Amino acid sequence: MTVTDLQALAERAGRELEEAPAPEILRWAAETFGERFCVTSSMEDAVVAHLASRALPGVDVVFLDTGYHFPETIGTRDAVAAVMDVNVITLTPRASVAEQDAAHGPRLHDRDPDLCCALRKVEPLERGLAAYDAWATGLRRDESPTRAGTPVVGWDERRRKVKVSPIARWTQEDVDAYIAEHGVLANPLLMDGYASVGCAPCTRRIAAGEDARAGRWSGLAKTECGLHG
Ligand code: SF4
Repeated sequence: MTVTDLQALAERAGRELEEAPAPEILRWAAETFGERFCVTSSMEDAVVAHLASRALPGVDVVFLDTGYHFPETIGTRDAVAAVMDVNVITLTPRASVAEQDAAHGPRLHDRDPDLCCALRKVEPLERGLAAYDAWATGLRRDESPTRAGTPVVGWDERRRKVKVSPIARWTQEDVDAYIAEHGVLANPLLMDGYASVGCAPCTRRIAAGEDARAGRWSGLAKTECGLHG
């Protein structure tokens, strides 16, 4: 399929599947792309991986190991790999944290988080996604104003791939209910005051009334890591 075909397919599917339940969106992705489809997961929870494994058993679940994750996040990844019918693929940056410190100075995340995310998230993901035509994310419209317009299926112009967000229309209550009903793995930090889990240096607990992503890059204007821009 050409890039033009993929883009037209994404835009049509975004319209046709807007009201569809998440399992139907993932069935469409599995039937359309097969092994050229993967799920990306931050290991905040395994909801989309669980949904996708039902549509495409053994589906590739891509995880970015930035070198800065909480131990709980690495533990969640290992548990997902052990108990779910998925193929977890861990992507790593070209440089270790020590090598990055040597090249750019320590704590780049405090001084230039955009560069740190570009080196530790954006570049590895672009490399990792080269093998796929379509990727699924757990983005939800209710997470933050920057995500309010997320289509259930859209065109990722930057990577020239189809981007599937099967739970875009879900609320946090929907996620919690799915986790409870299916016993889906979730990061233990979600039970410890964190509403969104990223790299340890750039994530804090949130206070009552804050939106779910307020604990990410707290105090900085930055709200996204560049993966979804
Ligand atoms: S979230 Fe923070 S530590 Fe992680 S890659 Fe981005 S700036 Fe670096």
